Amino acid sequence: MKKLFLFAFAFAASFSAAAQSIYYQDKNNKDMMRHTMRNDVLRNEFILPNVNKYMVLKSDLHIHTIYSDGSVTPEYRVQEAWTDGLDVIAITDHVEYRKWEGQMISFLKGYVPEGTKAVNAGITGKAADERGILSDLNLPVREAQRVADQSGLLLIPGVEITRDPLKVGHYNALFVKDANTVYDADPIVSIKNAREQGAIIIQNHPGWRRKDLEIIDFEKQVYEQNLIDGVEIMNGGEFYPTVVSRASEKKLFMAANTDIHSTTSKDYVAVGHQRNMTLILAKEKSLEAVKEALQARRTLAYSFGSIAGEEQLVRDFFQACIKYETLFEKDKKQRRVRMTNPTSMHFVLNFGGNPVQLRPFTSRDFNVSRDKEVVFTVENLWIPGEKKHPEFRLGYHLF
Ligand SMILES: [Zn+2]
Ligand SMILES: [Zn+2]
Repeated sequence: MKKLFLFAFAFAASFSAAAQSIYYQDKNNKDMMRHTMRNDVLRNEFILPNVNKYMVLKSDLHIHTIYSDGSVTPEYRVQEAWTDGLDVIAITDHVEYRKWEGQMISFLKGYVPEGTKAVNAGITGKAADERGILSDLNLPVREAQRVADQSGLLLIPGVEITRDPLKVGHYNALFVKDANTVYDADPIVSIKNAREQGAIIIQNHPGWRRKDLEIIDFEKQVYEQNLIDGVEIMNGGEFYPTVVSRASEKKLFMAANTDIHSTTSKDYVAVGHQRNMTLILAKEKSLEAVKEALQARRTLAYSFGSIAGEEQLVRDFFQACIKYETLFEKDKKQRRVRMTNPTSMHFVLNFGGNPVQLRPFTSRDFNVSRDKEVVFTVENLWIPGEKKHPEFRLGYHLF
């Protein structure tokens, strides 16, 4: 009986403590309660180790706002990236195209100078004065910067140079100093304008709206003139495996970006995924270090659980993620080994045709014998070559 009483008391006590902790009285309105949970602003962390002594910065280098054809404000983009666990973002609105400007101006009738009209009807290479863009193209980055400064997020000022996807394609210019002077009717001149400002250029979604990934004449020109630094291996839900080899041959860093126009909560979080990320192996968390890492091509492309990169970097990444431990040894011939994955990455290992899931924060035990090495590939890691995955060995002597 006494025991039961004590239990009931403990239960009541914990219940009332919980009741106090989840609501509180509003300061001004005596009849209003507030939910304390509303104030729990949490950031979702994607846990990765340092690789080769570099920090792995989580970035998205391709993001749109209402200042081109995105659905949300620059401020929201920063808050969204913070919640998604990113360290670095680039706001990259189109320099040619502002979807909402026409509608906004129609609301402001009477304030718009006589004879001025917004055009922006399509993604084309119109002459600068025909684009109908009335406002400052640096505005979205400036708006984002105010919020980024308070959140610890690094913000790269960028733009997207946006032309016919079949004949030219789209190119992001990162680290631009003045977005207003990037545009030229000739796309090569646009890219060179950005370059003169010290910009890094990424070739975006190289397969978008195309039948194949054959290199078109415009791409040949920009590669030959060394105007391109990086290329998207993944963009949104698109993945271009053949571009992994192209990036390696042409010495371009590999990127995976969202190119988000709606929200990441709709396109990624709701379907249970981390947003696309360009993982940047940086010496420190600063814009200078990010630029240095991009120029040195220390990046990995992450999208929907897959990673692509140069073979050595992908191997180093996997080895940094995985820990091994010998559990016991039998007759000096066989060992039982534990493979632990203390990261947010989900690896799919393939042991001679048998796929084995190594989920985040789990481990698996394996037998390794002195006579025979265990060989496996990691199916969701992509390296240069014909649909190639890196191979690893679990040897007796390795432990
Ligand atoms: Zn684009
Ligand atoms: Zn875009």
